[in-house]
Order: sequence, then structure tokens, then C-alpha cells
Amino acid sequence: MFRDLFINSTILISFVFIGSHIFKEDDLSNNSSITTKALTGIGGGLLGITLILFGVKIEILSTIIDLRYLAIIILIRYVGLLPSVIAAVIMITFRITYFGITKASIFAVISMILTVIGCNIIWRIKEKQFWKWIFMNMYSVVVMSSCMYVLLRNSGKTFVVITSYAAVSMGIGITLYYLLNYVDTVNIHYRKFKEEAKRDYLTGLNNLRQFEYSMNELIYGITTNNEKLSVLIIDVDHFKQVNDTYGHLAGDIVLKEIGKVLLNNCRENDIISRIGGEEFTILLPYCPHKQALEVAERVRSEVQVHQFILPNNTVLSITVSIGVSTYPETVMDPAELIHKADEGLYLAKRSGRNMVCSIQ
Ligand code: GH3
Ligand code: MG
Ligand code: MG
Repeated sequence: MFRDLFINSTILISFVFIGSHIFKEDDLSNNSSITTKALTGIGGGLLGITLILFGVKIEILSTIIDLRYLAIIILIRYVGLLPSVIAAVIMITFRITYFGITKASIFAVISMILTVIGCNIIWRIKEKQFWKWIFMNMYSVVVMSSCMYVLLRNSGKTFVVITSYAAVSMGIGITLYYLLNYVDTVNIHYRKFKEEAKRDYLTGLNNLRQFEYSMNELIYGITTNNEKLSVLIIDVDHFKQVNDTYGHLAGDIVLKEIGKVLLNNCRENDIISRIGGEEFTILLPYCPHKQALEVAERVRSEVQVHQFILPNNTVLSITVSIGVSTYPETVMDPAELIHKADEGLYLAKRSGRNMVCSIQ
């Protein structure tokens, strides 16, 4: 019996790790999409079937003892009622079609229904997660044990089977709680680091790494579809003076504000990045040169009229210079886009700043 319950535990742990890998990008919750709920429900059902197949077979009564209820309470903890019902329906259908309608399978169905209803109610009470988890475990073990008692009461094995089952179940239940917390923490960090690897910590815009990645992706898409791609390089004018006069903190506030101005003046598909100290880029997919010049001019004038308010209430005016290039209008090779926009930027700087330039 212990051997089979041990196998059940290893199956549970394997499913937890595989599941946590499959859903590592998703913040699983009651608000998850219907597809995620259906998938997790089906996954839970398959886990239940595997647990049943590798369960402890008590031949004289043709009944099976296993940890399938844990699949249900894992689903309730993460994705709520619907997936637990889906999993329960899958397990019940399998139990009846595979083993036939017997007294044991009728009890299995009843205990499964009671587990789903009871645990969903327990999960809704206002208590710490740990205690709710323990209560769900205890409740399920009581339900399962009661069914076992009715089935086994004349077999002389009742006490041994039920106490062993209850002890192993609770032990595995608590282990699973900590294991799930561990995989949750790993996944939260994975998502956080993945997001942070793309973002500029100051402005929340894309960073240089993400800019280059997006640029390569866009170039690939644009050249295969014979489309246009424009690039704006934006550099703040005399920014060193802002830092020197008002301090680095004030400079940071200005950079954050400029990020907001850029966001407010672009479309959803445009990719805005901070690629260096006070240098920003905007990638404009499917945008011809004339339109890119208009966007650049709008950005330039919006920055010029924007009031940058510093912590000491000083109101600052800032200007930017912008270089623009477009494939295939100002460059024939998309790899030249940045270089050509940079040339435009330096022309703007040389020509007195606060202007938009492009080199044809
Ligand atoms: P130009 O008009 O020619 O572009 O002059 P500039 O002063 O803007 O250019 P320069 O390259 O001389 O100075 C850029 C300044 O940007 C220098 C540096 O202190 C500042 N800087 C770079 N990164 C940051 C940052 O993250 N925060 C702040 N506050 N300042 C930064
Ligand atoms: Mg610069
Ligand atoms: Mg500058």
C-alpha cells in the first residue's frame, strides 16, 4: 500500500512541475481566461486518471485508494470552481467506464462530488491560505475515509487502511503546499526577470536590448512583406546642463516625463525605447517617410511646450533634436536605418538643435 501511495505522490509532484512549466507565463487565478481554465481542468482530470491507474488496488472489494482529491484541491487553489468540476467529471467518467458500475465506483463518484463541493466552499472562507489548504485536505481525507469505511468495514482491514491512507495523504498534502509555494515563487521571479530584461528601469520603456530585438524582428517582417519602416532617434538638447544645474535626480524626472510625452504621441504598434542616457528611439512600422517626419515634428513640438516640473517646483523647458530615416525611401538596406537616422540627428544638432532632420 505504501509503495503505491509513494508512486501516487511522485506522479503528483511530476505533474506539479510539468504544469508549473507549461503555465509559467500565466498568473493563474480565478480570473484566468476560459481557455486556461479548460486546459487546467483537463490537465487535472488527466492527473486524476493517472493517479487512479497507479492507485492502491484492494482486490477483495475491487476498490482503489489514491490521491486524486489532491488534483482537485490544487485546481481550486489556483483556478477555482470550473476547472475542478471539469477535472471531477473527467475522473468520474473514466472511473465508471474503465472499472464499470460497482458499489465501489458509486462511492467513488459520491466522494468526488462531495470533495468538489466541500473544498470549493472551504476555499472561500476567510482564513490564511495554509489553513484553508489543510482544511481542504482534512475534509477530503474524511470524505474518502468514510467511503472506505463503508466499503471495508467487514474486511478486518479497516483501521490499518484508513489510518495509513490518512497519514500519507496529510503528509503529501502538506509537502505539496510548500512545493507549490516554491514553484510559484520561481515562476513569479521568472516573469519578473523576463520583463525587467526588456525594460528600462527609469522610464519603463523598452531598453536597448529589447530595441535591438524588436528592430531585427521588424526588419525581417518588413523586408519579406515589402513594407516600410521608419526610425526616429531623439536626443535631449543640452541635457548635461539640466543635471549640472538641478542635479541628477531632476534629470531623471525629466527623462521619465519625456518618456510619457513620447508614449502620448505614438500609436500602439510603435516601439518606443530608451537606448542610452538621454537618447530615445521610436520604431514606426509600415510608416512612410513623410508621415515619420510628421510624427517627429509632433514629438519635437510637444516636448518643447511641455512643462517639466521639478521637485523644487521649478518649471523647466526642454527641447529635443530628432533624426529620421525610412526603409526603403532614405536607405536601401534596413541595416543602415539607425546609422542614417543618427546622421540626421547630428545634422539637427549642428544646425542649432530643437529640430527634425533626415538625410535623403
Ligand atoms: P547635446 O545637446 O549635444 O545632446 O548635449 P547634451 O548635454 O545633451 O549631451 P551630452 O552627451 O554632453 O550629455 C548627456 C548627459 O546625459 C550626460 C549625462 O550626465 C546625462 N545622463 C546620462 N544618463 C543619465 C541618467 O540616467 N540620468 C540623468 N539624470 N542623466 C543622465
Ligand atoms: Mg546624447
Ligand atoms: Mg543630448
